[in-house]
Amino acid sequence: MSSRNRLKRLVLPSRVSKPKLDLKQTAKIIIDKQANIEGGFECPLCFEHMLPPFPRPLQRLISTLKKNEEEFNREQEAKHKLLVQQCVEEGSLVPPLVLLKPGISENDQQVICRMHKVELVMKPLGIKKGYPAQIDFEAIDDRIKQFKQELEEIIEDKQDSLFLTNAREAHKELGSVKARQATSMMNRFEETLPGYYGNRGSHYIMETLNEIFLKSNYLDKSKAEPLTPIEYIQQVLVPETGVRLIKQDLKLPNLQEASKVMKESTEYGSIVYSKIKKKE
Ligand SMILES: [Zn+2]
Repeated sequence: MSSRNRLKRLVLPSRVSKPKLDLKQTAKIIIDKQANIEGGFECPLCFEHMLPPFPRPLQRLISTLKKNEEEFNREQEAKHKLLVQQCVEEGSLVPPLVLLKPGISENDQQVICRMHKVELVMKPLGIKKGYPAQIDFEAIDDRIKQFKQELEEIIEDKQDSLFLTNAREAHKELGSVKARQATSMMNRFEETLPGYYGNRGSHYIMETLNEIFLKSNYLDKSKAEPLTPIEYIQQVLVPETGVRLIKQDLKLPNLQEASKVMKESTEYGSIVYSKIKKKE
């Protein structure tokens, strides 16, 4: 009643029809808010609270979690009912029903957290930035073979590679032992991830490069120095391939532009394509 009075006071006497409309709208907003809170979802890992509508994969996951919770509650209620019966029969005090939340394994928590980040943040970001919505990882092999000559020129020192320069400098500055220590390896690993192709892309690219340059013995110890042939693949040829794939995907005018995209899309790639999907 009081809210109605407040609304009435706000309206000029000449306009009688307006408060009705406002009241309806206010009511609708309140109902929408309630619906949102009820349909909302909190990530069990990062505790981010999200409101619907959700993209379909996330909605499916949330529904499954809610169903599990309901089932768990029913089980607890059934157990409590039995306990109440027992207590009544024995004439002892009936304990109250305290519903526990179902436990979610650490692995599942990570899956859930990753999915909401992919669906609500990364995918819209990818669309905005124009990254390919889907990547055919199986087709990477043939595409990389097109770059074989250019990559050979890098190995032969006939073409500049910033990644090679950086790797050589790290070895010069730190010495081989330090350059191979876990922390500096990790830092360089981040820098050499093939952008939005992510860890999954890195895996496929490495497979093909191993085939072309290692199994054929083309990239031997002397050509790779001061790196080992495998380090050379990881630190030089993987990012050089990534830059070329990205240039091709986005039809960019040069490799510098593609390098920029590769750098800024690393986080996207490491979240969206974090794992290697098993072949179906
Ligand atoms: Zn989360």
